[in-house]
Amino acid sequence: MKIVLLGAPGCGKGTQASHIADRYNLPHISTGDIFREIIGSGTELGLEIKRIIDGGNLCPDHLTVEIVKQRLAKPDCRKGYILDGFPRNINQAIALEEFSSPDVVLNLHIELDKIEKRITGRRNCTKCGNSFHIDFIGNTMRCPRCGNQLMIRDDDNPASVKERLRVYASQTAPLIEYYEKLNKISTIDADKTIAGVFEQIVKVLG
Ligand code: AMP
Repeated sequence: MKIVLLGAPGCGKGTQASHIADRYNLPHISTGDIFREIIGSGTELGLEIKRIIDGGNLCPDHLTVEIVKQRLAKPDCRKGYILDGFPRNINQAIALEEFSSPDVVLNLHIELDKIEKRITGRRNCTKCGNSFHIDFIGNTMRCPRCGNQLMIRDDDNPASVKERLRVYASQTAPLIEYYEKLNKISTIDADKTIAGVFEQIVKVLG
């Protein structure tokens, strides 16, 4: 099963993708995580990507599409995958249709005014990559799953979040109509508990 997760920043795509990956035994491919790895490599390209991401903008399509194309060509994607954060605009969606047409697109819907609180309370694990909200874990900086250090993403600050939401509305939200026309989209109410959102996803995926 080839699955795409769509949704605004902070809607819970990463968390749900990791649950889907566990349940259906599919690789979880997050373009954001791939870019953060490149940043971690400390190369010239990494520095350039960091500047783009911290500003809340999208990385160039040619680079992003090539990274995803190469990743989906790996053997673990033969039985399917979960794409988290790709495509993020119509160009990328058209490219994806050409090299690996998804079976289902899950649109995690949440009102945009709820997003800011979700993102600014977010803590990410530096080791296992899971994210948590301070409403549930309090002020700890230890990962409740693996015990490693939690961090706050550099782009989870109010100015970046504002820009990311603007980019989402202008470039990513039009994908909803794009996938509706292809009859591939299912809308999920993402303003529920993690378990409540996952339950809806399982109903769609079967
Ligand atoms: P995410 O972890 O999905 O929130 O992504 C973090 C950042 O990585 C985004 O704000 C973008 O700057 C960049 N990024 C992730 N996926 C894409 C994509 N498909 N196209 C362009 N930039 C992306």
